[in-house]
Amino acid sequence: MQLIDGKKIAAEIRGDLKQQIASLKERGVTPGLATILIGEDAASHVYVSNKIKACDELGIRSFHHALSATVTAEEIVHLIRNLNGDSQVHGILLQLPLPKSLIDATDRCINEIDPAKDVDGLHPQNIGRLCAAKNWSAIEQQNMLVSCTPLGVIYMLKKSGLPIAGKRVVIVGRSNLFGKPAALLFLANDATVTMAHSKTVDLPSVCREADILVAAIGKPRFITAAHIKPGAVVLDVGINRTPEGIKGDVDFDAVKAVAGWLTPVPGGVGATTITMLMHNTIAAARRLAQ
Ligand code: NAP
Repeated sequence: MQLIDGKKIAAEIRGDLKQQIASLKERGVTPGLATILIGEDAASHVYVSNKIKACDELGIRSFHHALSATVTAEEIVHLIRNLNGDSQVHGILLQLPLPKSLIDATDRCINEIDPAKDVDGLHPQNIGRLCAAKNWSAIEQQNMLVSCTPLGVIYMLKKSGLPIAGKRVVIVGRSNLFGKPAALLFLANDATVTMAHSKTVDLPSVCREADILVAAIGKPRFITAAHIKPGAVVLDVGINRTPEGIKGDVDFDAVKAVAGWLTPVPGGVGATTITMLMHNTIAAARRLAQ
């Protein structure tokens, strides 16, 4: 089994991004990312501070807005509208999930973000564009804003020299954040895609058809050796906090004996997600500066 090293791939991509930022700065444009964090959720605070740190390291301007959990949906919308109109802000990231009291306002807030600044790729217009994309070249050339984690998965495969075209891909998990955009990206790369979920019958045999198996379930060590075709590429998206630390959705120790390629957790898919956020911020800046 060969390990797919997310940290190494992220570092390589960040090298490319630094060059893109330098050329934007030569044209008088400094990419800017606004982050909105609502409430006190500890994990969200860590995620957002890592995003701001990544901006600092690359030379992207960051504008942080921390709001109390007692804020109203109207106040969030007001802030988003101001950021939409701010020419120094090229990307707007609303950290999800929103606190419980605001959870029903999630779609309304996402829909308020200018699609040209929607660096999380969650606005319906951006999902629609991805759906309509003819192929991967169109996605890259048009600087489309696509959900960061699935975009990272595609770059991990490409940077590892692993072919996607013609492969049987099984994605376990059909969330809007990961599973659905991942399926569209694999389709744009000419894979034959199956989406599995909690109602899938005989999941192990469906998974065993996969040349590339992607697990985004949210259940620690759920995918076992019984789900793996020998030699398959296995990408573990899961981030699960357990008493033994952060664990993926794949039982790493069991699966490594069967898989050909495997991502670790931590240090795998998660390591590329923030880099893709930076990639999207630069793409948005490039498009808005045209
Ligand atoms: P989600 O919205 O909770 O979706 C989970 C999906 O898994 C659902 O589609 C669900 O099916 C499916 N599922 C649940 N139990 C299943 C079962 N027994 N058999 C087959 N499918 C089952 O989760 P998400 O937001 O996509 O996240 C998934 C995991 O990825 C989480 O651990 C999350 O922390 C992690 N994640 C990591 C990153 C990163 O940066 N690496 C980014 C995003 C998410 P139904 O639709 O039928 O309910």
